[in-house]
Amino acid sequence: MPPESHFIRSATALFELTQSDLPLEEVAIGLLDLLLQETHSDHGSFLRVNPDTAELVILASAGPDWERPLTAGRLFVGQGITGAVARFGKTYVSNDVSKDAAYVRVLSSVKSEACAPIKIRGQVWGVLNVDSNETGHYHDQHISKIEMMAAMVASAIDFRERIQKEKELTKSLVESDKLSAMGQLVAGLAHELNNPLAAIQGTAELFKDNSDPEFGDALKLIRKQARRAGNLVKQLLAFARMEAFEDRSVENIGPVLEDALELIRPQLACEGVSLETWIPDSDSLQVELNVTQIQQVIINLVTNAQQAICSAGIEDGYVSVVMEPGEDRVALRVSDNGPGMEKKTLDSIFTPFFTTKEKGKGTGLGLSITRDIIRDHGGELSVQSQPGEGTSFSIVFPLSQKKTRSAAEAGADRSEKREVHFPNLLIIDDEQSIRWMLNRLFEPVTNRLVIVSSAEEALAHAEDTSFDVVISDFHLPGMDGIEFVETIDEKWDTDSRFILITGDASSARVDKFRDRENCRVVEKPFELKDLLNCATGRSKDSGVSLAS
Ligand code: ADP
Repeated sequence: MPPESHFIRSATALFELTQSDLPLEEVAIGLLDLLLQETHSDHGSFLRVNPDTAELVILASAGPDWERPLTAGRLFVGQGITGAVARFGKTYVSNDVSKDAAYVRVLSSVKSEACAPIKIRGQVWGVLNVDSNETGHYHDQHISKIEMMAAMVASAIDFRERIQKEKELTKSLVESDKLSAMGQLVAGLAHELNNPLAAIQGTAELFKDNSDPEFGDALKLIRKQARRAGNLVKQLLAFARMEAFEDRSVENIGPVLEDALELIRPQLACEGVSLETWIPDSDSLQVELNVTQIQQVIINLVTNAQQAICSAGIEDGYVSVVMEPGEDRVALRVSDNGPGMEKKTLDSIFTPFFTTKEKGKGTGLGLSITRDIIRDHGGELSVQSQPGEGTSFSIVFPLSQKKTRSAAEAGADRSEKREVHFPNLLIIDDEQSIRWMLNRLFEPVTNRLVIVSSAEEALAHAEDTSFDVVISDFHLPGMDGIEFVETIDEKWDTDSRFILITGDASSARVDKFRDRENCRVVEKPFELKDLLNCATGRSKDSGVSLAS
């Protein structure tokens, strides 16, 4: 076959090779075979420049005795003929290496060497290298062939990298689509949960002064847990809207931690995992935080540790929670003697929806929410883990410069109790349990109380009488709470007060409603005293006794 036809065949084979789905190492091996044939070389290598270390890494090699170069040590940009090509991005031909100062001898048989850079968008990506056991071996035609093959492989690598980037972009778009679908789902669920939670919390509050101590303790527990669940719902809504949850106070971090650990301790005991804690008793470790969020963080980290220990079947498993006070910061460390993580897992744990847990057990949201919460608090979260050597998460919080409210101030607030009385009151809510609860709350302190389940019903009552205070749910079947207030406010010639109850306090319509002088918004689930304070026009913080 004439040499031109041979070369066209080789070029076609190379083109097919570079367009294939084969791994790059296999493409490199095929390319070297063709290159050795076309240039009648004895050896060849395909090297890639590691941009971080400037090392030239051999991806493929061809020819006899290649074990020696492979074990001869590491080669860096600037070293030898190959290193010079990697540094300057220009083809280099040496037809008598014994006279070339740049040449680094690896194989004694080599007499000539030719190298061409593999350049992608002007940058040296790697080097193609061939050598021959003959002096004066490489002439122009060989050099053109080497350069052409280097250019073809460069364009194939560039194409592959672009496709890879596109795939990653598509993946992240799909991920963010998933996130927004998840956000909608969470928001819907949170709204649904708000009504029953408001009813549970409020009803328990109605009976809080019950004289039976056992009953009283049970109600306290119900209220505490309903409040916790309510806060979680708020956080879910915040997650769905990707907003920071602002309800913060300056707290002594030790007790906040201990409360969280008390909640989780029974679960660990049940699974046979011990919980070791070291939390120094100090009043000076004040952190500005959202208690529910920080407890959620601790519970998540400890639960993850316990689940990792149990799923690996580790006996004598333990989780330790240690607090290390510093001058202007406090560190918390949650460590375990579980299975630890491979680097690949470790690199993904903060990605939303990444989980290694079996279906139904993990959502893959815990650590991404945890990291957002810590960042939101001005803190830092880091992790150390090795397979077989357990895992350790560290959180560092800045200490607060603000002071906590003194016990005396808190007591003074509580003692400022007074009775409330409303001449006439209209309540609109489509939830039967909330209507029942609000009836119990307001009936003893109202002369005239009308409770209805829709705005249309309320309109019928409001035709000929006005009310001093109207408390309405926002979302109602038919006309909603805001539309009702707007309709009635025009009709009544009184200084009525309107209170909107909603779980969607951040919507634009609610914001507009809040701006009106005689309108207030109470977020679900709410404390009854907050609703009473709003109804009486007092500030949110003042205490009000329930005349029940
Ligand atoms: P989920 O718990 O729903 O899987 P997370 O975001 O909380 O979601 O955790 C993501 C993944 O991180 C887990 O599936 C697990 O692979 C890994 N992980 C987290 N904590 C530990 C730990 N202490 N030990 C080993 N793996 C862990």
